[in-house]
Amino acid sequence: LLVNDLLTLSRLEGSPMPSATDWHSLTELTMDCEREGMALSSLMSPLGHVMSFVVPPDLYLAGAQSELVSAMSNLVSNAVRYTPGGGRVDVAWQQLPEGGAEFSVTDSGPGIAPEHIPRITERFYRVDRSRARETGGTGLGLAIVKHVAQRHGAELHIHSVLGKGSCFAIRLPASRVQRRA
Ligand code: ADP
Repeated sequence: LLVNDLLTLSRLEGSPMPSATDWHSLTELTMDCEREGMALSSLMSPLGHVMSFVVPPDLYLAGAQSELVSAMSNLVSNAVRYTPGGGRVDVAWQQLPEGGAEFSVTDSGPGIAPEHIPRITERFYRVDRSRARETGGTGLGLAIVKHVAQRHGAELHIHSVLGKGSCFAIRLPASRVQRRA
């Protein structure tokens, strides 16, 4: 809903920076987003999607739980909404060699032409208005994702090939990642 997304954005702007000492298990963070993604998939298409969720069990992340879940869910929801039924959506967390961690959502959807990529995180920017109307977004999802990423010192990376699919990745710095036995 537009109102919800606008509220989320203005709340982000007014709230204190996310904690650097509040640790959350990646397994738990990803569980909500997995449940939502699966439900949305069967809602969008009778075929559903082939979905995978891969999460290392011992990784912890410092930050604002609701913000992180909202960013993750937005990326999964986009992948499901833009990828036709029967397609693939692969969601994964992995630790990076220098100690950071990456959350990635890879889909086999329509892809995004290179000229649009620098602009899709702008508020209300949409590649294809008619398609966006069908898929029921607000045009604010990626603006929220980018904002949450920035507040956590993370980067949003977008890689996409027209006709093949897209990969959206949030890379968090080592200072916010912990491996626990
Ligand atoms: P929307 O509510 O329109 O989905 P977003 O900010 O989440 O708003 O995304 C902006 C635009 O980026 C979308 O309208 C769509 O054109 C494009 N987009 C986002 N994610 C994907 C994806 N996984 N595959 C193809 N296009 C995408």
